[in-house]
Amino acid sequence: MCAAMREKRVEEIRQKLSVFSFPRLQELVTLSNLLEKENISLKEIKEFINSFLELQEINRLRFDSEREKQKKFWKKITKKCPECGKPLDLAPVGCSKGKANKFGYKSYWSCSGEDCLYDKYTTREFKEIIEELRRR
Ligand SMILES: [Zn+2]
Repeated sequence: MCAAMREKRVEEIRQKLSVFSFPRLQELVTLSNLLEKENISLKEIKEFINSFLELQEINRLRFDSEREKQKKFWKKITKKCPECGKPLDLAPVGCSKGKANKFGYKSYWSCSGEDCLYDKYTTREFKEIIEELRRR
């Protein structure tokens, strides 16, 4: 290949791969060398990526369905809001008795209803309340 043709080809390649930064192209060469050395084809890499994504999706679905089950279970065992009748949510209070928590509240009930502002603090332990609700 003569110098002029080579220069033209380099320019052609530069334009076609212009969306990739130079370090990424260097990374590609390193990766390509490794794949060749380890005898791994690009097809296998694509399959690897696809199965990884599939697994990720399966895990996400499992996670969602588990969360959905927990939500349903919570709806069944929790108390109803005295103001609107929607299920109440329960959360532990983060800080212990002190300046920010004068009465030593340990748990916090709040209404899950979108238009309801009902909430109530309690000095009872979060875990204790959950166990009591489970036993009901
Ligand atoms: Zn409510």
